[in-house]
Amino acid sequence: MLQALQPSQRKVLDARNNLAEFYVLARLGTSLEKLDHAGGAPSPYKCEKCGGAMLYRISKNGFFLSCTGYPECDGTKPVDKQGKPTLRVVLKYAHGGQPVIRELQRVSSPGLRKYVGCGEIPRVRNGLGMAILSTSQGVMSDQQARKSNTGGELLAFVW
Ligand SMILES: [Zn+2]
Repeated sequence: MLQALQPSQRKVLDARNNLAEFYVLARLGTSLEKLDHAGGAPSPYKCEKCGGAMLYRISKNGFFLSCTGYPECDGTKPVDKQGKPTLRVVLKYAHGGQPVIRELQRVSSPGLRKYVGCGEIPRVRNGLGMAILSTSQGVMSDQQARKSNTGGELLAFVW
């Protein structure tokens, strides 16, 4: 028998289909129903736009971080399956169809990890490129790391 689902139930079911959600829930020590009902669960991460606290929320695409200042602040961040913020590297295409990002150079390796303080974050190709850092607040670009005054492991350069 087919039953119509309420939008809130559907949201829960979609999220259940994704194994990654269980890792996040386990870390949060909460259930999906509770999280859905409370409208979010506290996270240790800060909003890049306003510096406010961020909450874990769910959408039909899974978990993400959302600023507690919403709707005044629309800051959001994608998270990985451990619930840590991830960085979306958006490839831009120039008019000729060539990707603007041509090179990704790995800096830190498991055998030789390279850490930088927030004052030592390199500028890549005079600011045209981007450095990717793994910090205590998740993976971020050099620009984001400077803004949040944090250093970390220098993962890669892209340009
Ligand atoms: Zn915010």
